[in-house]
Amino acid sequence: MARLLSRKIPLAELHCHLGGAVTPAIMWSIAHSQGIKLPTRDYWEFRDTITVSEKRARSFDGYLQLFHWTELIQSSPIAVERAVYEVVGGAYRKNNVTTTELRFNPMKRNRGGEQDLDHIIAAATRGMDRASLEYPVKPGLIFCLDRAFPYELNEIIVEKAIAWRDRGVVGIDIAGPESATFRVADYRRLYRRARQFGLGLTVHTGEAGPVDEVARVVELLEPDRIGHGVKAAYDPRAMAMIRERGIVLEICPSSNLNTRVVSGWDEFRWIFDTFRRNEIRFTINTDGPEMLKTYIRDEMASLGRLAILSVEDQEVVAATSLAASFVPNVSDVPPPRIEPASRVVVEREEA
Ligand SMILES: [Zn+2]
Repeated sequence: MARLLSRKIPLAELHCHLGGAVTPAIMWSIAHSQGIKLPTRDYWEFRDTITVSEKRARSFDGYLQLFHWTELIQSSPIAVERAVYEVVGGAYRKNNVTTTELRFNPMKRNRGGEQDLDHIIAAATRGMDRASLEYPVKPGLIFCLDRAFPYELNEIIVEKAIAWRDRGVVGIDIAGPESATFRVADYRRLYRRARQFGLGLTVHTGEAGPVDEVARVVELLEPDRIGHGVKAAYDPRAMAMIRERGIVLEICPSSNLNTRVVSGWDEFRWIFDTFRRNEIRFTINTDGPEMLKTYIRDEMASLGRLAILSVEDQEVVAATSLAASFVPNVSDVPPPRIEPASRVVVEREEA
């Protein structure tokens, strides 16, 4: 059996959507506590509705459709607080993930304006605070703009990220379905503005869309990281730009296999080899661990088992993920791993 990355090595999950990260049983409980009328009264059927399954054809749009129910159920302050709290704590317990950067679109959580955006955002920060009191974790929030949203709505999301930057919002992203109206160049000013306020910048590109978009995104939006970016392996110019600017890729293997963006592990082997040859820095992430039924260490284990990434490569990936985190002080000070008992003693001594 292939050696596994030591569990003692802490990880940062840099690419994780709130809509794909909450355990189905907890989603079920959140839905019921709010009296949401679900499409089924059967838990197992519900579970199939919000997770990938063998029965459903795999596609990019099919994957995005899974978010319909999860986003609806998460559309209230109570739901968002519990969802964030559960994801951050769960990632620590299950995988020793000490930094979870959770991304979501707050405007897909407020029932079309029925709920106040600031209440939704404040609830997310409360969820992070609660998890941070229980575990030695340093989480952060990334707000997703949407390719299919009009510019004016995306602009509001950026302004909210800026307004909440001192409360744990650490970055912005562009996500959502491919859209005929979306132009990378339109977002240049907004991305500059977010950078001026110290927010981290990432963008979904080089995933389902055209290969040549990656270079355009790098040039116009100057991101710190790229969501997925696997298609950059097919564009030497994009790879040169990514290397020169030190941009870090957030690769999510199982997600790309599920959406058929990557045809199989053989193609992944070639992609990773190409990135290594071109000195591209990358991290491994889940995209949505519960929706895709895979945790970050499962992703590492698969890559190890298939001899795509050695344990030494995985250690580099783990270090890269902490170094590339948007959460302040994650890269230089690893979160302490203090047992609850010893913490009590320390507090007494200080008093
Ligand atoms: Zn994503």
